[in-house]
Amino acid sequence: MAINLVLMGLPGAGKGTQAQKIEANYSMLHISTGDIFRNAIQNQTEMGKQAQKYIDKGELVPDEVTDGIVADRLNQKDIYNNGFMLDGYPRNLEQAKALQKLLTDTNRHLDAVINIDVDPDILVKRLSARYICKKCGATYNKISNPTKKAGVCDFCGSEEFYQRDDDKPETVKNRLDVNIKMNTPLIDFYKEQNILYNINGDQDIDQVFKEIIQVLDNLSN
Ligand code: ADP
Ligand code: AMP
Repeated sequence: MAINLVLMGLPGAGKGTQAQKIEANYSMLHISTGDIFRNAIQNQTEMGKQAQKYIDKGELVPDEVTDGIVADRLNQKDIYNNGFMLDGYPRNLEQAKALQKLLTDTNRHLDAVINIDVDPDILVKRLSARYICKKCGATYNKISNPTKKAGVCDFCGSEEFYQRDDDKPETVKNRLDVNIKMNTPLIDFYKEQNILYNINGDQDIDQVFKEIIQVLDNLSN
């Protein structure tokens, strides 16, 4: 059965980390709007240039751009066959409504929204210690989640890493503020639909994953 999932959580809550583990064990395809924007910026596409103006300030990219990108991806055949897990989308109520309409119009629905809950004070520290493999995109943390062998990616063996520009302290604060403001209405929207699952994200990465598995396995049964 194809599962359609939203992974929610403030920046740094662990969505990408958990998505990588889910992808290794389930069929759902990972769609990260942040990754799509970063690729577009790297390739200097017109959309990338537009998005960068917002991302550099820690602001949200306008809904009409973001909704369009997600709609294009969700309408591809591999997504229908395998299901999806959205990471970083929706980020506000308008996006949630646009997603609902898109899914209803194509005879689909969300099976679950998993909210990875972490106190914002913890997130400031986490984000400033995040680093990413240049080759495969695997995410690490200098404090809580370093590579097994120092300086070598666990997944692809690359020795090149980078820090995201928007993880620098001056942008992190605004990103968190912007997202905190949008988060509550979104949580209420999904709570009312009885598809919201809250998971404590301030636990060991494997423990968070165990709790996510419980939710996913219950959906499949
Ligand atoms: P998001 O995709 O939600 O922005 P990430 O998955 O990139 O978050 O995780 C943010 C940072 O926190 C990364 O450096 C990651 O290695 C680390 N991290 C993820 N989950 C945990 C956790 N449960 N405990 C401690 N650090 C974590
Ligand atoms: P992320 O990788 O999810 O932390 O996203 C990085 C940045 O991309 C955000 O700070 C926003 O500027 C932009 N972004 C990602 N997803 C969205 C979204 N759903 N709506 C608007 N902007 C987004």
